[in-house]
Amino acid sequence: MSDPADETTDDTPRAIDVPNDPTLMEKIVNLSKRRGFVFPSAEIYGGFRSTYDYGPIGVLLLRNVKDAWWRSMVQLRDDVVGLDASILSPPAVWEASGHLTNFTDPLVDCKVCHERFREDQLNDPRVCPSCGAEDSFTEARQFNLMFKTQAGPVESEGAVAYLRPETAQGMFINFSNVLQASRKKPPFGIAQIGKSFRNEITPGNFVFRTREFEQMELEFFVPPDEAAQWYEYWCQQRYQWYLDLGIPEAKLRMRPHDADELSHYSSDTSDVEFLFPWGWGELEGVANRGDYDLTQHAAHSGDKLDYFDQATNTRYTPHVIEPAAGATRTMMAFLLSAYDEEEVRGDVRTVLRLHPRLAPYKVAVLPLSKKDTLTPVAREVLALLQPSFMCDYDETQAIGRRYRRQDELGTPFCVTVDFDSLDDRAVTVRERDTMTQERVPIDDLVAYLASRLV
Ligand code: ATP
Repeated sequence: MSDPADETTDDTPRAIDVPNDPTLMEKIVNLSKRRGFVFPSAEIYGGFRSTYDYGPIGVLLLRNVKDAWWRSMVQLRDDVVGLDASILSPPAVWEASGHLTNFTDPLVDCKVCHERFREDQLNDPRVCPSCGAEDSFTEARQFNLMFKTQAGPVESEGAVAYLRPETAQGMFINFSNVLQASRKKPPFGIAQIGKSFRNEITPGNFVFRTREFEQMELEFFVPPDEAAQWYEYWCQQRYQWYLDLGIPEAKLRMRPHDADELSHYSSDTSDVEFLFPWGWGELEGVANRGDYDLTQHAAHSGDKLDYFDQATNTRYTPHVIEPAAGATRTMMAFLLSAYDEEEVRGDVRTVLRLHPRLAPYKVAVLPLSKKDTLTPVAREVLALLQPSFMCDYDETQAIGRRYRRQDELGTPFCVTVDFDSLDDRAVTVRERDTMTQERVPIDDLVAYLASRLV
């Protein structure tokens, strides 16, 4: 049995050049499967292309990403309220929003290998990336990305329903309900986290682009003359959110859209982009949507979707600033930026340097050995910590291997219960990034960890 103190010898860990590692993506996919972050869906039936299941660790990480967003967007503010709208919705919503006609991607088929591609994503519009044939593409046709289904037992046009391709419309169609119920007035926002569905032509790059994914969206309603300033505000806030949670500045950028990329109703849009192993990719779009959405739904539904300002005795349709992020895609960006390897005494240590707020487990309780004498104290420590922190408990294998496993899960602290603990009522707390160890009395443990896990 190795001694937990072994790790802190004088050999300083040596950094390995992870950012330039061409196999990084493969390592993340392997780690995800091995440690229970993300599994390919329906694997025992051969898999189902580009769908994924979040395992015991992934479900915690994804939840922490969503909680961190909710905390910053709802909990720490008094001008944003939450919503959880339905996923199924009638065609009228998508007629009004423009999705039925406009939510399309240009689809081309290769006449040689019959693969399908998004025309706007081809590197060379003449050459098939799959078989290399030249000038083999069909004319592009517009392919609608919405999933259509039937609600109820009768298959008829009247029963058609759509799975939402974004959460945003739920906020617009509930504008009046929320305004009345919450007694907010512009500027105020409605936030929502939930699943969205898009029948993507070319899903891929692990969970970057999937047909079922989770979004975190805010619709922030403002007086028209304040829209430009709120747009700047949200661009800045959202960029900072990723930095605060550990994405390095060198891998994050704000990219304003060119005029030809803007939707017809948007006066300004910027994407928060992350440097993925294959290049820059969008994590979030922040858009100044003007009054397009409320005006469209008011016209189609016949309801008034505006605001009467008693102070100025005026009625106006608020403008909307929308920061729209992807939870699953963002989780992957956090994983990629947290992944690190270093050489410790001749061995490669893999460690996820996740922000403590995102770490799946905050603490692991590890009895030094499986001896019966240690179990009661270890269980007591676990029970003491569980109400405050998400904990793992692991008593199998040598302690060094258990530390490595927790490093790979990104657990910020390991608490080791050893034979001295029986006498001195203290435990060894080992910190993930530095591997330093400190002896802490059991009675002080909750406060000690809480002060380091903010
Ligand atoms: P893209 O250009 O990558 O297709 P988009 O501009 O269509 O994305 P939005 O409609 O702005 O995306 O959606 C907001 C966010 O939702 C995106 O920034 C992304 O994080 C996430 N998202 C969109 N589509 C997918 C998808 N198919 N899989 C995973 N996340 C997605």
